[in-house]
Amino acid sequence: MSTLRFQALKEASTRKPVKFEEAGRKSEIFGANVFNDKAMRQFLTPDAYKGVKDAVQHGTKIDRKLADYIAMGMKEWSLTKGVTHYTHWFQPLTGATAEKHDAFFETSYDGSDPLEKFGGGQLVQQEPDASSFPNGGIRNTFEARGYTAWDPTSPAFIFGTTLCIPTVFISYTGEALDYKTPLLRALNAVDEAATDVCRYFDKNVKKVTATLGWEQEYFLVDTALANTRPDILMTGRTLLGHTSAKGQQLDDHYFGSIPSRALNYMRELEQECMYLGIPVKTRHNEVAPNQFELAPIFEETNLAVDHNSLLMDVMQKVGERHDFKVLFHEKPFKGVNGSGKHNNWSLATDTGVNLLSPGKTPMSNLQFLSFFINTIKAVNNYESLLRAAIATASNDHRLGANEAPPAIISVFIGEQLTKVLAELEGVSSGKLSPEEKTDLKLNVVGKIPDVLLDNTDRNRTSPFAFTGNKFEFRAVGSSANCANAMTTLNAIVAKQLKDFKIEVDALIDSKGLKKDEAIFNVLREYIKTSKDILFEGDGYSDAWEKEAKKRGLSNFKTTPLALKAKISKEALALFEEMHIMNHVEVEARYEIELEEYTKKIQIEGRVLGDIAKNHVIPTAIRYQNTLIENVCGLKEIFGNDFQKYGKEQMTLIKEISEHIEGINTQVEEMTEARKTANALTDAQKMAEQYCDNVKPYFEVIREHCDKLELLVDDESWTLTKYRELLFTR
Ligand code: ADP
Ligand code: MG
Repeated sequence: MSTLRFQALKEASTRKPVKFEEAGRKSEIFGANVFNDKAMRQFLTPDAYKGVKDAVQHGTKIDRKLADYIAMGMKEWSLTKGVTHYTHWFQPLTGATAEKHDAFFETSYDGSDPLEKFGGGQLVQQEPDASSFPNGGIRNTFEARGYTAWDPTSPAFIFGTTLCIPTVFISYTGEALDYKTPLLRALNAVDEAATDVCRYFDKNVKKVTATLGWEQEYFLVDTALANTRPDILMTGRTLLGHTSAKGQQLDDHYFGSIPSRALNYMRELEQECMYLGIPVKTRHNEVAPNQFELAPIFEETNLAVDHNSLLMDVMQKVGERHDFKVLFHEKPFKGVNGSGKHNNWSLATDTGVNLLSPGKTPMSNLQFLSFFINTIKAVNNYESLLRAAIATASNDHRLGANEAPPAIISVFIGEQLTKVLAELEGVSSGKLSPEEKTDLKLNVVGKIPDVLLDNTDRNRTSPFAFTGNKFEFRAVGSSANCANAMTTLNAIVAKQLKDFKIEVDALIDSKGLKKDEAIFNVLREYIKTSKDILFEGDGYSDAWEKEAKKRGLSNFKTTPLALKAKISKEALALFEEMHIMNHVEVEARYEIELEEYTKKIQIEGRVLGDIAKNHVIPTAIRYQNTLIENVCGLKEIFGNDFQKYGKEQMTLIKEISEHIEGINTQVEEMTEARKTANALTDAQKMAEQYCDNVKPYFEVIREHCDKLELLVDDESWTLTKYRELLFTR
């Protein structure tokens, strides 16, 4: 009998929900561990407080003396909360967050005068030993240093007994080595471009903020069970396992009552989020068994991205207390739904207007239409770049692989807005007659209802859908850092809004058009030239693939192909023009992502080879031996008649041998394919080889293993089965 698996099953199936009591009302504990406005007012001098506020609101610099005062206040606040250490908290391109803890504690050189110390210098800048973070060749060995620098726009927070200071991570030569730096630059670009456009409609607008509300999907697997599966531990997903007889076909999990162990986990998780100021609001079961979702109230994008990164960390830590391993992988189980991270995105003014929300007057609706149509045009112009922003080895399991949404980027806007765009397309060229203006105001722009029907009528197959007052970028992977998608989306919209302003101004200046006439004229042309990206039908159908091809939309089903768009001439020019990333930074990221792809597939190949040869085959042979013994025994008893009684056993013995043979040859061939790929020096070619020549072995090897799982006696199978992983709760 397989002792490890059965011990784990026993452990998992007898667990009780871990007790948990809420410490207080959500509104009372919200942000208690964040150096937020309330804490700053209490612990900072008025000058220091104003310094931070100015930095956040207007990007003003904080000088060293002021930093000293701020650090002092932060330290005092931290000490009242039992904090002992501080860390610069950043997001290197590994996808995880990074931290190195230093104690507040200091002494004099001779060991006297021990005291708690934290100065402006330590707050503002640190030099982590950065040589082990991905840099895509930016940092040569002779200049292996990078530094982290405080980002005052995302407040410091306490996690455990450590004060975490959100920072950017930059090389000494000034290139971004993290996710945050380009994101901040993109947010700045979209602020500038959108504010300029807003001024056509309202001169009071001084700042536009991109907003993000992510929805995090995940799976919970009992720790004891997860520990029996090397594939889950090493790759975050199952590389083999026969599908369970019951999966999600009864649709009995989605929005169903939350299992009590999971519920207690969520309650504690939500409480941790409250302390950290992460405004989580929604929790529910997802489609697949043991799959769940968590969503916050939307926030300013930089903060929302930080909060999602922090959340993923917190989720794993709280999971440990509840004996759950949290799986963020986009496709942890074959045959059941995978996980995504919908990125709900919009733009908001400092005057409190959501720019993607239809308004109450014709003028505010023209403003809405300007932002709405410019976003569509931006996606139309840069669809392949947006696809590249979400390309990872794990997201390839969703995009274009029988899973929502497809690898083709398209925009869904719903029936009502489709009609509005069709009417606007008929606007005359140049100056508009008074009748036409009145008609537009009354019957087109004036008739956009402030609550759009499509708010509820959603096309779930669309990767980028308008949902009433925001766009929902659904193709983002559940394990991704939102920054990659958000940097690209805000960059392309910024560029588009900038061009829009130039075109509208040109019509006003050179053709003497009125402002609204000019806007109508430019929008009309945008509608005409952005039609290819609009699609309302079934995104999973073959017909759409054919149609999309005709329209010239890209359809990159794998990461190595998709990533190329990152270094296209258009992409490099875009990032440079908008001051988001220079060539070196973009190219470095492209290299890093290719390498990451290759490494992921390489690790999966190794782990699968190991499990197949060292777990599956030995188990199969042991079982085959008992069959052989059985047949020999039958022969002893029945003599030549044994064939009659041992027929089934002998078929099984043969089948097992065939699968063992299959595994051995395929694993060997896969290893050879890896060696060939490893010999390449070009990152693009290597990733392509891993994709085209290594990855295909996974399915074949898995098939043999999964067949053996069905043949071999359940008691001797060592790997925890799908039904156990998915239905133990
Ligand atoms: P659902 O999609 O479940 O019907 P909602 O439409 O209310 O729920 O919102 C889904 C997500 O969209 C939430 O995370 C929410 O915070 C976010 N969201 C709502 N409005 C905006 C906005 N203006 N900008 C960004 N995100 C938003
Ligand atoms: Mg959603």
